[in-house]
Amino acid sequence: MKQLQGIAASAGVAMGRAFLYSTPLPAIEPKPIADPQSEIERLNKAIEHVDRELSRLEADTEKRIGRAEAEVFSAHRLILIDPSFREEIERTIRSERIQAEAAVQRVTATLKAMFEGMENDYFRTRSVDVADVGARLLRSLVGIASSGWEQVHEPVVVVADELMPSDTAQMDASLILGILTAGGGPSSHVAILARSLGIPAVVGLGPEVLAISPGTWVIVDGQEGQVILDPDVDTQQTYLRLRQDRQARLDQALKNAAQPVILPDDTRVTVAANIGSVREAERVLPFGGEGVGLLRTEFLFLDRASAPTEDEQYEAYLTISTLLQNHLLIIRTLDIGGDKSVPYLSLPHESNPFLGKRGLRFTLDQPELFKTQLRAILRAAHGRQIAIMFPMVTTHAEILAARAMVEEAQRELLARQQPFGEPQIGIMVEVPAAALCADLLAAEVDFLSIGTNDLTQYTLAADRTNPLVRSIADHFHPAVLRLIYQTIQYAHAKGIWVGMCGELAGEVLAAPLLLGMGLDEFSMAPASIPFVKETLRRWSREEAAALVEPALAQRDSAAVIAFLQERAKK
Ligand code: PEP
Ligand code: MG
Repeated sequence: MKQLQGIAASAGVAMGRAFLYSTPLPAIEPKPIADPQSEIERLNKAIEHVDRELSRLEADTEKRIGRAEAEVFSAHRLILIDPSFREEIERTIRSERIQAEAAVQRVTATLKAMFEGMENDYFRTRSVDVADVGARLLRSLVGIASSGWEQVHEPVVVVADELMPSDTAQMDASLILGILTAGGGPSSHVAILARSLGIPAVVGLGPEVLAISPGTWVIVDGQEGQVILDPDVDTQQTYLRLRQDRQARLDQALKNAAQPVILPDDTRVTVAANIGSVREAERVLPFGGEGVGLLRTEFLFLDRASAPTEDEQYEAYLTISTLLQNHLLIIRTLDIGGDKSVPYLSLPHESNPFLGKRGLRFTLDQPELFKTQLRAILRAAHGRQIAIMFPMVTTHAEILAARAMVEEAQRELLARQQPFGEPQIGIMVEVPAAALCADLLAAEVDFLSIGTNDLTQYTLAADRTNPLVRSIADHFHPAVLRLIYQTIQYAHAKGIWVGMCGELAGEVLAAPLLLGMGLDEFSMAPASIPFVKETLRRWSREEAAALVEPALAQRDSAAVIAFLQERAKK
């Protein structure tokens, strides 16, 4: 029995056999060839084959999941059919007189290294795509099945170095019991996806996890970030009980999940979902979500060759709004920068991207990109419950500038005679400056939504993706809680409502405290909704309010947690 500690990314317990997801490639040694022309013909056939394969994947993925997820394959096709890529491989076959496989391997490795060494994020991200295309081409040349997922026929725990959107787009989630990755942090693509799909996951396990032999029996504890290899019978039973308890609690909580949370004083609290794709939107209502408190629109923009058009965005927002049966859908405008990079948008290389041009700072600088998204949202909001939310707001002036963009987008739609709605406009409070000046900012908007993931990292000066400072970046820290309380009080004093879409909103332990502070809307991964609703129903506002002062007076996160655990028992 062996244990590995990583970063808890998606709660729940999974047990099963390890499946090592990697796209298997044979070792290729360059061999001298007599007839370069026949190798070039083989190469051309392989390119045609991969082109067909990518087109099929694109069409399949679009049908199964959505246009945004399918875009990665069209980006890969562009690399594949780029004439200079083909010419370089042909040139290598001729000049080196080596077989097509070895030439593909050599050219891809050179291109990949070249992109990796570049300053610009756009090119660095391209290196992964180049490697992906090269690997597909190689597999076609040597004649092996193209994707790791084709070997998964029964439920498994997936072990991978990283899982990129191009990997997860083809994954059949019903066969995935748990996910373990060597890289990644709590806000990496795979972590957010796993939470949304309710798959237990541990990330940031380091290269050691890749040494697990395929078929090894593993336990994934997504709550504690632990992985147990070859567990003994006692350990298996302990975790089996844990899993059964969680399932029983979920079943129980699901029974009432569809009901609203009505407090003893007859007031309501909204419990909504955080989602990042159309696929995840399907999980909102079944888990009792009363709308979407955060649609992370980055996922429509990632892994494509160019930004989605206004119509594509409009269709996606409309589809999601329809799935929500017209409950409120809060669409957050593009939040890139930090750990989210979008290749084709050529973000500047920054040594400190979390403190750089991200979120609203970036989109204000890209008026066309920004207004295209705003027009799509405004059009979708026609006759629908849709709100706009700006990320990473720091100053009052940014809100005025963003509102001016909304007005400009409205004027453009008016000129086109296209109908549009009048959505509520809100901001995320995730920078300490915004929390400290929430009274000034609240005067300009219809609502605030507290993003505790960033608020925690900025308040405690601890990078949310850095495992070395994981214990410092704790959203239960009294400094974070004080900023949250202050934000809620300021917003209410200005007569607007406040939500929370950071991970703290999905913590059962925090729910009574946040209720006591007066939070109006809680937004979280769909699978957390039934538990948070169940917890909120056990409290009255007065009882919950009594938690606030003593909680804020605790000296650190551990003391806050101990205090809340103690009160939760009562
Ligand atoms: C947050 O920062 O809390 C948040 C919800 O936004 P994201 O995690 O997408 O940065
Ligand atoms: Mg954020």
